[in-house]
Formats: sequence, C-alpha cells, structure tokens
Amino acid sequence: MEVVILGSGSPLPDPNRAGPSTLVRTAIGDLLFDCGRGVLMRAAAAQSGAGAFTGLFITHLHSDHITDFNDVYTSRWVMSFAPNPLAVYGPVGTARLVALTEEMLEPDIGYRLEHHEDLTWRPSATVVEIESGVALDTEAVQVLAQPTAHAPVHPTVGFRVQEGDSSVVIAGDTIPCEGLDTLCAGADVLVHTVLRRDLIEAIGIPRLLDTIDYHSDVADAARTATRGGVKKLVLTHLVPAPAPEAEHEWLEQAAAHFDGEIVIARDLTAVAV
Ligand SMILES: [Zn+2]
Ligand SMILES: [Zn+2]
Repeated sequence: MEVVILGSGSPLPDPNRAGPSTLVRTAIGDLLFDCGRGVLMRAAAAQSGAGAFTGLFITHLHSDHITDFNDVYTSRWVMSFAPNPLAVYGPVGTARLVALTEEMLEPDIGYRLEHHEDLTWRPSATVVEIESGVALDTEAVQVLAQPTAHAPVHPTVGFRVQEGDSSVVIAGDTIPCEGLDTLCAGADVLVHTVLRRDLIEAIGIPRLLDTIDYHSDVADAARTATRGGVKKLVLTHLVPAPAPEAEHEWLEQAAAHFDGEIVIARDLTAVAV
C-alpha cells in the first residue's frame, strides 16, 4: 500500500496546505479518507480523481473534513460515462450529509441533465454508516472502524486499512481513546491529526484555545503511536501549520514520546506501507 497525504492543512486557509484528506492506494484501488478543501486538485497531482475512488471514508462531519464532498460527488458523476455510484462510509449522519448535498446541488444536476444528451442518470452514492467493526470487507483489503473521541462532535470514527500483513490507521480528529488504541495495535503507519498546544496557548486567541480540548497535541499522538507499537507516525492537519524550517520542533516533540519513524506531512507526502 501507499499513503499519500493529499491535504495536510486544517480549517485555517493556507496557500500550501489543502484541507484534511488522505489517499490510501490499495490492491482494490484508491481509498479516500476525508475530503477537505482542494482535495481533487491534490488528487489530480497524485494521478487520482473522483472517478477512481473505490471508497470515500469520512471520519466526522466537521466542515474542514467534508468541504469538498460536493466536488467529489459532482465530479464523479459528470466525468463518468456510465452510472458510477460513490461508495461512502462514515459515522451516523453521513447519509444525511449526502442527501443534503444532493439537494444543494439540485439546480446543477438539472442544468447538466438538460444539457448533456448522453447523461441520463443522476449522481448517486451508496452509504454505510458505521460506529465500529468492519466497514469494508474484500478478500484483499479490509477497512475497520472504531469510535474516536472528539466531543462535542459526535459520532466520530477512525479507520484501519488492512491489506495482508500491512496496515494503516487514519485517526481523524481525536484525543487519545480506547477506540483509536484498538485500531493502532501493531499497525505499520498511523496518520494522526495534531495541534501544538504550546503555540496555541502562546497565541491565546479564545477561538483557537477552544480547539485544544478535543484534539491530540503532538505528545498525545506520539504516545498513542507508542502504546500501539506503531512503526511509523505521520503527523498531519498541523495547527498552526509550521514553516519548513520549524518542522524540526514538531519532530523533536514527537520523538520525546515515540521511538519509531516520524513524518511531518506536507501536501503530497507519500509513505510506503
Ligand atoms: Zn474535527
Ligand atoms: Zn479537523
């Protein structure tokens, strides 16, 4: 497998970092985890695209993780030459997200159906809402889900992709919790969203301070990786996003709690599994 961080950013717009989104390339095709700002631009850079996703997995319904769902949904529809339903997996509430998005897109759907003679079907999705257990089960690849802890956002899930002996965990936004520990046990790679508690406290803006209590900081993520015996930790969704020359601070903070390999993600950072 290969993990490609499509977007390493957060809700804060950044010229160099798209919104949260991770691509996992597997034997059954490209699996997309979350679909934040600019996801299809970065997918294009990774030679993937809306029509190619075998599945879209949503960790939670915070806007930064789903801003471009409408783009994925519409682009897949318009750029496929036969009905090509999008397989969507996510927490309870995902089906409503899909339905409301489709309702929002109703004018566009009408324009395109009217204009393109060969386009005779509407966009569509199959939705699996999952709290824990097996989300996707094929012979070659399994995707498991467990609840995570991001209150008051609820429900939220993390995912583990298993292909043979290789495994990748996508934590999403969460504080350390039992569900994430279950997913991480013995995993090769953990992709974890993080913030820097020290920097956010120094900035001191209340709206930003509020984010500390429902995210893992760098040390939290590193300790989760250690508890799970994970081989490689990929830190993404970096708040506040570091300039390249400051990335070593994040590395050092993580290395104080984790002995394995640590990667500070940028957009299109790729990690072999
Ligand atoms: Zn969130
Ligand atoms: Zn987020």
